[in-house]
Amino acid sequence: MSTMRAAVFVEPGKIELQQRPIPDIGPTDALLRVTTTTICGTDVHILKGEYPVRPGLIVGHEPVGIIEKLGSAVTVYEIGQRVIAGAITPCGQCHPCLDGHSSQCGGQAMGGWQLGNSIDGCQAEYVRIPNAQANLTPVPDGLSDEQVLMCPDIMSTGFGGAESGHIRIGDTVAIFAQGPIGLCATAGAKLMGATRIIVVDGVPERLAVARQLGADITINFREQDPLQRIQEITGGAGVDVAIEALGTQQTFESCLRALKPGGTLSSLGVYSGKLSLPLDAFAAGLGDHKIITTLCPGGKERMRRLMAVVASGRVDLTPMVTHRFALDDIVEAYDLFSHQRDGVLKVAITP
Ligand SMILES: [Zn+2]
Ligand SMILES: [Zn+2]
Repeated sequence: MSTMRAAVFVEPGKIELQQRPIPDIGPTDALLRVTTTTICGTDVHILKGEYPVRPGLIVGHEPVGIIEKLGSAVTVYEIGQRVIAGAITPCGQCHPCLDGHSSQCGGQAMGGWQLGNSIDGCQAEYVRIPNAQANLTPVPDGLSDEQVLMCPDIMSTGFGGAESGHIRIGDTVAIFAQGPIGLCATAGAKLMGATRIIVVDGVPERLAVARQLGADITINFREQDPLQRIQEITGGAGVDVAIEALGTQQTFESCLRALKPGGTLSSLGVYSGKLSLPLDAFAAGLGDHKIITTLCPGGKERMRRLMAVVASGRVDLTPMVTHRFALDDIVEAYDLFSHQRDGVLKVAITP
């Protein structure tokens, strides 16, 4: 009774299902019984050893679940409530949190990302949520687990890219890469009022989903030169906002080259190695360009807002859940997801 199944990072190349103790909780924590979770691209980086975490860590940072236990200091929820928590679980009390940068909680870059990073995550039957008072949001009645499964990370991150880019009504926006985060950036750009949304990817199925989520023009980079097409579409002017949703030198540089002078490059990708600026596209530093980066916003108010968007029907992200697995089969799910087989976008995992 006091153990549970959990997906554990063992060593690079190996995440396996193990029996682990059900977590104890402290006064400010909550224990969730996980009902649905998913695998993120970041988890694949962890699996491959490209993003280091300690061996023995339970992975996963996108929980939907039922409150099983509450710490004595957690006063605004009830046992049995169905809730989500963000991938980022800020404390809500430190300087960065109160300064409006709660994803950088504690003052270290990415400090707000704890689940499946610095503490055990939610690809398990149970998960401990720290600072629960600031981090649990009840799921509105009538919304299914799968309807809110993108809120903790993918939707918050993708929308965050559109919001950080300060898209204005009537803007032309280009989004490079249409994986799960890029697709959510597309949906976010539409909600922000962009009236011409150009998306770039090399997978026709992803471009088709992008159209469902609000893309006006799709460019398959295997068939067309994206920058040339964007120049044609904008009459040589460039776009107001370019969103980078992959994390490579090439997509970053393409974003910069697609921008008009004064435009904003909103970067969501996770980069590795060195990133350099092409000075011609950067107007030698005098083009009034803005470059802004965003880590997934978390916390209970952010989750409330995102679920309000889902409940309103203005965005339906359920086409992104393409595959379903039991927690027992999570190793198989990792294999499918990491090799992007069978048109996979996101997998729903149910303990
Ligand atoms: Zn993630
Ligand atoms: Zn904090």
